[in-house]
Formats: sequence, structure tokens, C-alpha cells
Amino acid sequence: MKELTVGIDIGGTNTKFGIVDREGNVLHQGNIQTTVHEEFKGFFDSMANALRESFKDLPSDSSIVGIGVGAANGNYYTGNIEHATNLRWKGILPLSKMFQEEFNVPCILTNDANAAAVGEMVYGNAKNMKDFVVVTLGTGLGSGFVCGGILLNGHHGIAGELGHTSVNPTGRYCNCGKRGCLETYVSATGIKRTVYKLLADHLEPSELRGISFDNLNTKMITDAALRGDIVAKESFEYTGRILGMKLAETVVHTDPEAIFLFGGLSQAGELIFKPTIRHMEANLMPLFRGKVKVLPSALQNQAAPILGASSLVWDHFAKKGMEVA
Ligand SMILES: [Zn+2]
Repeated sequence: MKELTVGIDIGGTNTKFGIVDREGNVLHQGNIQTTVHEEFKGFFDSMANALRESFKDLPSDSSIVGIGVGAANGNYYTGNIEHATNLRWKGILPLSKMFQEEFNVPCILTNDANAAAVGEMVYGNAKNMKDFVVVTLGTGLGSGFVCGGILLNGHHGIAGELGHTSVNPTGRYCNCGKRGCLETYVSATGIKRTVYKLLADHLEPSELRGISFDNLNTKMITDAALRGDIVAKESFEYTGRILGMKLAETVVHTDPEAIFLFGGLSQAGELIFKPTIRHMEANLMPLFRGKVKVLPSALQNQAAPILGASSLVWDHFAKKGMEVA
């Protein structure tokens, strides 16, 4: 019997899902719209139908052994999505319980950055590591910490939110209600805010002048920097400095072997890695210098969120020391 898992990534606009084998091959992939459903139950029913449809195509000698879900504000302990700001359904949504009852297999939920960390451990570049951190650079900044081979969930199920640690108490306003959070500087949105600040501060010509905030994206900033645009280059240096300084602090907390950067901004390659590593090293406690690697995630393709979510199931069975049924 071939064992398969389902990975579901619930985003504010789209929900992606896939059926994944133990090696990380995605056998089937699909998506449904998240936003069209007024009630959470409507979304759940539509998701359950889509899954049942996709199961029809599977080989007869295979079985689904579990469902993993990554979602912002997903709580690993309770299996609930709790007060998500990116979804239209408010309050507490008992997602794991509903999937378990519907499909009679374990359903493991966690936030999307934690799912990315487990995905890196199960399928990616952290396969042989027990202590590492994954930083996801999307619209915001998420992070997942693995210590001794175990994902840190914390007492309340919300451990490792680097994005909302402060880099400047009187700095930029953040969606969470605080000021100066890391993600207001280091994220797709953060670097756009930096470009606008630098455009205001500098007199040099820049191809980014004249582009509206809504139209500007990371790829445009990357391409401009590669063409030598001073403001674009400076925006990566500024972003890498803030990230590097924060990672130097992060290292002290859990002594990781490596830190993986995942998501849009990390795809700028050396433009972001070089200043990040330089500033991390310069700010590290001497004991740690030259010891902690900063690496790109191995899960950079479209299916990465599905892989991350599905990996929760394998991790669940591994933790229990159980052979999959
Ligand atoms: Zn914040």
C-alpha cells in the first residue's frame, strides 16, 4: 500500500492543495478560492468536495494517511485557526476537528511559516539537520524554529514570531498594532517602503521613481538593482542590514546550524544574502562567528506551501514513533 498525504495551504485569496508521497512528489494539485465563501462551513465543504474528487484519480493501491494544513494563525495544539486577520471568517475555526471527522485521518494544523520549517526538514535542505531556523519572506515575515529535530510550538502554540520582534521602537507602523516590527522592514512590503524612503532621501536618478507603491514589486526592485540602480541596490543593503542584525540575535537564542531564507525576497539571491550574512557576522557574539550558515530554502517552487503542509503528517507519525498505518 502506497502511503500518501494531503497538504493544504490556506491563503487569504487562494487555497492550494496537493497529494504528496513520502519523497515529496506532488501527485495531484488543485486550488479553490478562499474569499468567495461567506461562511467557514461553505469553504470547508468546497474543500472537502475538491479533495474527494482528487482522490478518485489515485492508484487503487494507495491510501491517504493524514492531512496537513498551513494557515496564518493556525494553532498546532488546538487545531483551530484563531482570529486570523487575513481571512474573512472571524473567531475560532475548528479546522482540524472538521477534517478529522470528515476523512477519518489525523489532521495537523500549524501556521504557514512553521509548515515551511517542517517541509525543509522532511523534503528540503535541512534533511540532516536537527537545529535550524526558516525565515519566510513574503508579504510579511514568518519564521519557524526547529530544535533537536522538533518544531518549537511554545506554550500557546504561537512560538517563533520573529516578524513581530522590534528593530526600532519608534519605527514603522505595523499591522499588528506595534511599531518597528522586523516585517515592516524585511518583507516584500518592507522593501517597498524602504525604496520609497530612499527615493525621498536621494537625488540620484532611479528607474523606480514614478512607479506607484501598488505597482512596485520585489522583482522590479531586483531587476533594477542588477542593472546598477543606486536606490534599488541601497534598498537591498538596508534590508540585509536589518535582517542580518536580527539574525545575529536570533542565533543566540537557539544556536542553530543554519538559517534558511524562503520566499520572494530570498529569490533576489546575492543581493539579499550578501548584506544579510555580512551584517549578521559583524553583529554575532564572537563565539558564533563563521559557524552559522545562511542558506536558500530547497523548497522554492510553486508547490512549496503544499509540501510544507503535507510534511506535517510525516512529522506527526515520526514524532509518535509510529509506522504509518
Ligand atoms: Zn508587528
